Amino acid sequence: MATRRSGIVVIGAGQAALTLAETLRRGGETRPITLIGTEVHPPYQRPPLSKAYLSGGMPRDRLWLKPPEWYAEHEIDLVLGVEVTAIDRRRSQVVLSDGGVRAYGQLVLATGSRPRPLPAAAGGDLAGVHVIRGIDDIDRLAAQLASARAVLLIGGGYIGLEAAAVARGLGKSVTLVEAAPRILARVACDRTAAMVRDLHLSHGVDLREGLGVARLVPGADGAAAGARLADGTEVAADLVIVGIGGIANDALARSAGLRCGDGSGGVCVDAFCRTEDPDILAAGDVALFDIDGSGSMRLESVQNACDQARAAAATLLGREEAYAPVPWFWSDQYDMKLQIAGLNRGADRTLLRPGRRPGTGSVWYFRASRFVAVDALSDPRAYMAGKRWLEERVSPRLDQLADPAVDLKEVASDPVDVPA
Ligand code: FAD
Repeated sequence: MATRRSGIVVIGAGQAALTLAETLRRGGETRPITLIGTEVHPPYQRPPLSKAYLSGGMPRDRLWLKPPEWYAEHEIDLVLGVEVTAIDRRRSQVVLSDGGVRAYGQLVLATGSRPRPLPAAAGGDLAGVHVIRGIDDIDRLAAQLASARAVLLIGGGYIGLEAAAVARGLGKSVTLVEAAPRILARVACDRTAAMVRDLHLSHGVDLREGLGVARLVPGADGAAAGARLADGTEVAADLVIVGIGGIANDALARSAGLRCGDGSGGVCVDAFCRTEDPDILAAGDVALFDIDGSGSMRLESVQNACDQARAAAATLLGREEAYAPVPWFWSDQYDMKLQIAGLNRGADRTLLRPGRRPGTGSVWYFRASRFVAVDALSDPRAYMAGKRWLEERVSPRLDQLADPAVDLKEVASDPVDVPA
């Protein structure tokens, strides 16, 4: 059994890892802290990758979460370009791709997630097929995007839709194909999807919903030159971007015998970010946890990576603070800012509240008459009101909320005292 005096080793050097290290040092942690990351880049923010960084509107040095000198100043050992290949729980050490090992007193899995690949059988391994996850992905993609004329997006989730908006902004012809009956099927209701659909149609995106890709078609040079769709039609493209969801990087945990989830995976943790091994915690995209009493889930968001890492740090500092957040998320597409607060799963009713300008507004989700989430489309007042109600554990009065003549500040709310 490792002693409390041994160091803390974090696998991954992304948003969750950085927040964890920072919170530990702020909390007075004096033990050695090591972050080990596969990527050669220091911890950076991913959201701009499918937005301003992809469009060329943000320089690379604005992606870094901390200046280079911060790590030495805070005695954080940053080991980059090295993969952890195994966790040896018996010896309390991790095995590295460079042949080394690192002993740990406590270990944190902050390995994030990766894009679900388009199978090779469907042409996913052709040249000219891109995913959006890391800086290197974007640098490769942006170079080809500059000269591309027609872009095919596979997947109508946030990343695909954001990339479509960037590509249209660069003047490319854009087709977006979504196999599910509609875009945003996994994350938003049909009212929100309808507003986002209208936005993309108004910007000239050729949006095809309920239509999967049968396979990508190679051109004379062997690179992807388009796709044959499920209905037999073909779409020509000189660049393909695949955004069909994420999978947790939980292979290390699985091999080490830790309990993990099915589907898109994830390492099972309790409200204090502990796995079943008392010396191993997990936080961020990779963690699978029960947030609202309705079953385990993973959240892929900056809010989750940061807040869960803070909860994990509290556990390591010996001050247990259960992770019970009001989740929030955002997406930028064209000049529309979508802001989401709460979790809409299990919602049985939605309400659309039009905004002050066309194309703006908010969609409110209720479960058993209880307010659980809001999607605000270029409507920051709705987002702020909804987030506040969720934090205060109250539900706005439906009749007042439904009436656009009633100002949000005037909408009354009732306490919610039943568990979600
Ligand atoms: P990551 O930041 O992915 O860090 C994990 C790191 O661990 C990676 O660098 C990985 O290489 C490394 N790693 C994995 N396995 C190993 C190993 N065995 N050994 C060593 N290192 C390993 N969220 C929002 O809230 N709003 C947004 O608008 C938004 N936009 C996004 C746009 C894009 C393009 C992407 C990709 C994500 C976006 N997100 C957004 C999600 C958000 O960025 C992630 O949820 C967040 O980065 C997760 O942090 P993390 O630390 O869990 O994982």
